Amino acid sequence: MRALVKTTAAPGLSLEEVDDPEPGPNDVLIEVRKVAVCGTDLHIARWDDWAAKTIRPPMVIGHEFMGKVSGFGAEVSGFSVGQRVSAEGHITCGYCRNCRAGRRRFCANTVGIGVNRDGAFADLIVVPASNVFPVPDEISDDIATILDPLGNATHTTLEYDLVGEDVLITGAGPIGMMSVAIARHVGARNIVITDVKPERLAIAADLGADRAIDPRTTSLDQVMTDLEMTEGFDVGLEMSGASAALDEMIGSMITGGKIALLGIPSADRVPIDWNDIIFKGLTVKGIYGRKMFETWYKMTTMLQGGLDVSSAITHHFSIEEHEAAFNALESGDCGKVIIDWG
Ligand code: NAD
Ligand code: ZN
Repeated sequence: MRALVKTTAAPGLSLEEVDDPEPGPNDVLIEVRKVAVCGTDLHIARWDDWAAKTIRPPMVIGHEFMGKVSGFGAEVSGFSVGQRVSAEGHITCGYCRNCRAGRRRFCANTVGIGVNRDGAFADLIVVPASNVFPVPDEISDDIATILDPLGNATHTTLEYDLVGEDVLITGAGPIGMMSVAIARHVGARNIVITDVKPERLAIAADLGADRAIDPRTTSLDQVMTDLEMTEGFDVGLEMSGASAALDEMIGSMITGGKIALLGIPSADRVPIDWNDIIFKGLTVKGIYGRKMFETWYKMTTMLQGGLDVSSAITHHFSIEEHEAAFNALESGDCGKVIIDWG
C-alpha cells in the first residue's frame, strides 16, 4: 500500500510503498478515504525538538482520518465491511488506575496513532476495535475526518455550562474556530474570539462569533464596553498556547469565572498573575484529549442536531500534493486542511 512515512530522524516525509498492515484478533482494518493534517503532523514533518524526542522512525504518520471497514479480527463483533468509521487516536491500556476509574484519556500507557505506532496517512490502517467509532449517515466524509480536533473543541467547550454565559475564546486556530460554533449551538450569550490572523478571525466570525478581534489592535475592554458587559467573561477557553492570550484572559474574567486550558504553550514556564486568579476566585482547568467516548457521542449528536462546522474546512489536496497541504497548514492562513486519499 501507499503511505506517507517519516523514514529517518530528519525533516521531511516521503510517499512510499509499504506492506499492508494485518489486523490482530481484536483489530479493525480500515480503508482510509480522507485524512486531515494536525499541528502534531507538522511537528513530525519538520522534525522539531518534540518530534526528535518522541518519534521513532520509520513510521507512518497521521491520526485524523475517516474511511470504511475493510476487515476485522476473529474476536471483533458489531462492525460490517463497508461501514463508515473514524477512530479515537489515543489507544489506552484498560488496566491502569485511570483506565479502571473510567478516565481513559489519562491512561498511563497511552499509545498515539501516528505518533507511537503507524498512523492513518496510508491506504490502510489497523486500529483496536474499541477505538473505532462508527460515523452516523448524517455526518459527511469531510466532517468525519476532523472528529479528532472537533472532539478537542467539544471537550473544552462543554467543560462548563455555557447557557446564557459570556464566553471568551483565545486562539482562532481550527480548534478555537470550531469552539465558537459549539458555544453558539449550546446557547452562549456573547462569544468573543481573539487571534492575530485575519483569515482565521473571518472564519470564526462566520462560525458565529459576536466579535472576532486582533488583541493587538482592539482591546477586550473596548469589546466588553461595546457589548455592554460590565463585569467580565463568565467562561474562558484558552486555545492559542500564547502567554499573552492567557494573560489577557485572566485579566478580563468576571470574579468567580471559569477557564479551560487546551492550548499548549511553547515555553515550559509561562508567567501567571496569581493575584488575579486568587482574588477573583477563578477556576482554571487543564483539558487533555477527548473523553472516551462521551465526547464522541456529544459531538456526533450535536452534528446530527444541526451543529455546522463546515466552514472550518478550508483546503483539500490529493495525497501527491502532501507538501502543499503541510505548507498550507504552516502558513496559518487556513482552517482544517484535508488530504483526499482515494
Ligand atoms: P493552532 O496553532 O492552529 O491555533 C492557535 C492559534 O492561536 C493560531 O491561529 C494563532 O495565530 C493564535 N494566536 C497566537 N498568538 C495569539 C495571541 N496572542 N492571542 C490570540 N491568539 C493567538 O492550533 P489548533 O490546532 O487550533 O489547536 C489549538 C491549541 O490546542 C494549540 O496550542 C494546540 O497545541 C493545542 N492542543 C491541545 C490538545 C490537548 O489535548 N490539550 C489537543 C489538541 C491541540
Ligand atoms: Zn491505562
